[in-house]
Amino acid sequence: MAAQSTNAPPSGTMVAYRLVPGKTEPQRTVVPIPTPAADEVLIKVLAAGVCHSDVHVLEASATQPIIPGSFILGHEGAGIVVSHGEGLNPAHARRLAVGMYVAICLTNACDRPECDACSRGLANVCFESLMIGLGMDGCWAEYVKARASTVVPVPGNNPQDPRLTPGIVAAATDAVMSPYHALKTAGEVKPGQTVVIIGCGGLGINAIQIAKNILRAGTVVAVDLRADNLAIAREVGADHAVTPDALLAMVTGRNLRVDVVLDLVGVQSTVDAATGIVRVGGIVVLLGLGAPTVAISPLPSTMKQLTIKASFGGNCKDLQECLDAIAQGKIRPQVEARPMDECSHVIHGLAEGKIRARVALIPQFPKQ
Ligand SMILES: [Zn+2]
Ligand SMILES: [Zn+2]
Repeated sequence: MAAQSTNAPPSGTMVAYRLVPGKTEPQRTVVPIPTPAADEVLIKVLAAGVCHSDVHVLEASATQPIIPGSFILGHEGAGIVVSHGEGLNPAHARRLAVGMYVAICLTNACDRPECDACSRGLANVCFESLMIGLGMDGCWAEYVKARASTVVPVPGNNPQDPRLTPGIVAAATDAVMSPYHALKTAGEVKPGQTVVIIGCGGLGINAIQIAKNILRAGTVVAVDLRADNLAIAREVGADHAVTPDALLAMVTGRNLRVDVVLDLVGVQSTVDAATGIVRVGGIVVLLGLGAPTVAISPLPSTMKQLTIKASFGGNCKDLQECLDAIAQGKIRPQVEARPMDECSHVIHGLAEGKIRARVALIPQFPKQ
């Protein structure tokens, strides 16, 4: 029998930034520190990422909320386990001991054998529960409770490790894990293949490193409208970095056979480019959600016998593998840390395209 957790949970109140229906700014509130349920752990947040999804849910809040109700924002979290729910499964209690440095897998999978998604290895698309920070209370707070089965220990257990700072770990939960799952599981990228990454923002810059350094793609082509982003793409290992209008000529001029295209933008022009340049029998992976609908032309797609796949998030195994790869220096996510009280500024900056790196919010609040 494993010893029961006897640690006293922190009590009192905490600062938290909530989405409130009708408001397009995150609302600073003071709320009770949550109490973890039997299958949950309580985590002291060290860093929480800001994502374009946050921009979308806040913008929609004024008119047509994407997710009903009010909840604490933040679906990309890193922190320290501070207490266990009463009666937590002993295996989880051992794996996630109090004091451990952990990451929260953003897809809040139920992990039940009767779940159609979880029982078939599709935990990344289990929506039996709302996601943390996107319906359930999230990480833009001093503490967050999370289902133990969705919490992953950070290798080395050291928040001071410069390769695995809390900001980097928070970014790993989405900006690294989502392109990793898309390229590995949906794209089935194999060593030596040619991969094109369309969209070189936060996810794309990580996708280049994933394709090159983890999945061992032979040639990686980066595509973006912005010259600055193309320069970073080259720095992190893209063999070619081009604007969309130069893509087709480059691919044909160099006689590249494109095996896999990852579209991180998801608008008509990028989907057309992806299906246009991919080789016969190739794979196009859709991850970007830029347009509400896009059209696929059946004739050219069938004549190339294309596989068009969609990908969403990732699972705990993906997250663990991403953290291991970051620990080994195979991916170096770019993350800028900001005080959590600046979350509104960061949201505006992201909406206006002024933020190039991923931003992680640090929950340190001046004494009132
Ligand atoms: Zn996100
Ligand atoms: Zn499930």
